[in-house]
Amino acid sequence: MYLKALEIQGFKSFPDKTVLSFGEDITAIVGPNGSGKSNISDAIRWVLGEQSTKALRGGKMEDVIFGGTALRKQQGFAEVSLVLDNADHLFPLEESEVMVTRRYFRSGESEYYINRRSVRLKDVNELFMDTGLGREGYSIIGQGRIDEILSVKSGDRREVFEEAAGISRFRHRKEEAERKLERTQENLVRITDKIDELE
Ligand code: ATP
Repeated sequence: MYLKALEIQGFKSFPDKTVLSFGEDITAIVGPNGSGKSNISDAIRWVLGEQSTKALRGGKMEDVIFGGTALRKQQGFAEVSLVLDNADHLFPLEESEVMVTRRYFRSGESEYYINRRSVRLKDVNELFMDTGLGREGYSIIGQGRIDEILSVKSGDRREVFEEAAGISRFRHRKEEAERKLERTQENLVRITDKIDELE
């Protein structure tokens, strides 16, 4: 599995559709200050489901949409697609390529697709869980991330190792089950109250 391509349109400083093709070897992106290098890693983070505008270096989600310049008007939506090789079927999909797309409109509407099939954010999160690629993964090491990993509480640091060990999927499922159990217990209390009232 490796990153094959990134397609960006209307995202930050990329108003036009821009396709970056990557090989299996190392790719370096160079350019003058402010030319949009970090916007490329922001685009990868974003399509992987990042919800924190701080992590995306913005104030609100709308800031990811091309905001216009003196010569160009702003765009109405941002769209990023990430194409990953899946010849080894690391992702549980039949296709030998996985394309994940995220679209966001100024109205606040979000769309997610996996191989052009409309999905929920939860599906994107689950697809990448335990691969190290997800938004909580360790495949994107931004400036200061190493310091952050070293300084956080041991419980938070454990999450990085859990992702690498391929068990964070189970932790998420456990948390989900615990939340459901809590809701069911609350419902049970409400029902018991109602029964008591009726008796
Ligand atoms: P450095 O080498 O200094 O870190 P960089 O190449 O990583 O720079 P970026 O931070 O990726 O540069 O890009 C910054 C540029 O992106 C700025 O010129 C900024 O105006 C532009 N930019 C960011 N968000 C938007 C947006 N929503 N619409 C238009 N342009 C944007």
